[in-house]
Amino acid sequence: MPIQVLADEVASQIAAGEVVERPASVVKELTENALDAGARVIEVSIRDAGKQLIEVSDDGSGIAGAEINLAVARHATSKLSLADDLFNIRTLGFRGEALASIASVSEFTLTSHRLDEASGREIRILGGKLVGETAKGSPQGTLVRVENLFHNVPARLKFLKSNAAERQQIDALVMRYALAYPEVRFTLRHDGRTVLQTSGDGDRRAVLASIYGPEVARQLVEVEFGMEGEKLSGFISPPSLTRSNRRDIIFFVNGRWVQNVPLTTALLQAYHTLLMVGRYPLAALFVEIPPPEVDVNVHPAKSEVRFRNQDKVFSMVQRAARRALLAHSPVAGMEVGPVWTQPINWQSGQPQRPGLDWTMAGEALPEGVAAGGEGEDEAEVGLEARGMAQAQLPGNRIPLLRLLGQIGAAYLVAEGPDGLYLIDQHAAHERVLFERLMEQGEKKLAQALLEPVIAQFPPSQMNLLRQELQTLRNSGFDVEEFGTNTVRVRAIPADLSGADPVLLLRAVVEDFEEDETPLQAEREARIIARVCKRSAVRSGQVLTPLEQKNLLESLEQCISPRTCPHGRPTMIHLPVGLLERQFGRRGAR
Ligand code: ADP
Ligand code: MG
Repeated sequence: MPIQVLADEVASQIAAGEVVERPASVVKELTENALDAGARVIEVSIRDAGKQLIEVSDDGSGIAGAEINLAVARHATSKLSLADDLFNIRTLGFRGEALASIASVSEFTLTSHRLDEASGREIRILGGKLVGETAKGSPQGTLVRVENLFHNVPARLKFLKSNAAERQQIDALVMRYALAYPEVRFTLRHDGRTVLQTSGDGDRRAVLASIYGPEVARQLVEVEFGMEGEKLSGFISPPSLTRSNRRDIIFFVNGRWVQNVPLTTALLQAYHTLLMVGRYPLAALFVEIPPPEVDVNVHPAKSEVRFRNQDKVFSMVQRAARRALLAHSPVAGMEVGPVWTQPINWQSGQPQRPGLDWTMAGEALPEGVAAGGEGEDEAEVGLEARGMAQAQLPGNRIPLLRLLGQIGAAYLVAEGPDGLYLIDQHAAHERVLFERLMEQGEKKLAQALLEPVIAQFPPSQMNLLRQELQTLRNSGFDVEEFGTNTVRVRAIPADLSGADPVLLLRAVVEDFEEDETPLQAEREARIIARVCKRSAVRSGQVLTPLEQKNLLESLEQCISPRTCPHGRPTMIHLPVGLLERQFGRRGAR
């Protein structure tokens, strides 16, 4: 075949493929347009999961009658004119291709009315071809109707998932925008039924309540953090409130929902050792950063971004979240220990209540009794089961326990003032080793370097170093000033030996800047690795009564005895009240 320029229609459909993958992508583009137009009220109506109809109306600025045709032309936008503007984008749209793309794969109607014009205007486009244009009496704002999406691209239609799955994508999308723009009143309807409605009063916690329910919203911890022109705000769940997947971790950058693995990683690091393996927090976090610091033109769908200074954003998220978590104390009036409020159906091993994905303090999942087994069991049910008995913040010590014995060469059984404890001997020993090693690290022995190392610092950090010289020496560094803005390092803390002394010192300075215990994170990571290598007591190992007693006593001494350093539970607690209920004694008295 000779080389030929593609017909416009074909080119549009190819481009559409990148922007409009499924009904939710249409909802996304239309919602973003409405937000860019300054809308305060946005209504989304869906029929047949978006296959039949997607309608988005807004009360925004509207489009001038004379420009309405341009709005659906490819590469036509009012949001950008110079190439340089690409590096200073403050709107959600900028590529000028969404409406053209959508119109090329649907039956498309655009109605718009600008306030300063006498009447509105409507155009109708079928498969990319203009078929009608009329004046139209309509309220200020814009209404887009997208009917029979992909009617002319059968291959796309075939790739759509079930209605339930497509609907779920739309719901998640509108929910995210409702969260990001609490001052906008959002309504989402499926087949005439309202599934989401926000008030638009600017209260983000109220939006969270309309999405996750008031009980969850009440428990979320607020994050507020600013640093050098960058800002992080939003909500994260306390360690006692988790999910089995990352779906409820959402990030916005400058009002744009983004998928960015490093941001999620940073958040998860903030929960380090607070969550069990396989459990994830819920988070809605909003990063505000000067537009030139972030590249949003990575993919046509605009949900990927690149940061000019990735590390800086990463560390802001990690620190802000960590700080919020540590400052947070459990909501007053909440029960401390897990108490099961519903009887368990022992036949099925399931709780007799709807299978909520949440585990909350005071509401742990009872399957743990039956299934809380080996750490090797990574099946979803096992993870779910381990969801119990967490529900504790660190620093929650356990009461003195009376050892009853060992079962299955894997668990210790003990009695406390408040019921029965089953303790995983392997996880417990890991916790004990971890805290011992952390404590040894505290003693801060110095390890001399073979050759002194020179490091340079900017003046502000140099000042800080000078002030904190004594702290540095106490923590095992041998550092002295060595010319302007330069220091010489002769020794580093022994428990961090082998690390790059310059990087280590920089990390310390950053910790000083943030007012944090120097090198805490670095220490933890290393020690966890060591604990794993050192043979902790295995499960399957029969312990003598003395060994059992020693292990139990050491665990009682721990600061955070309820999870192992990887975040798995060390124990399951069966409170007396639960036992009474299970034996049917509660009501009898
Ligand atoms: P982009 O958003 O990237 O500019 P679109 O194809 O989504 O490209 O929209 C093209 C143009 O149409 C926009 O730049 C804007 O001027 C106008 N437009 C689209 N939707 C609306 C709306 N809901 N309200 C006001 N103007 C709109
Ligand atoms: Mg757009």
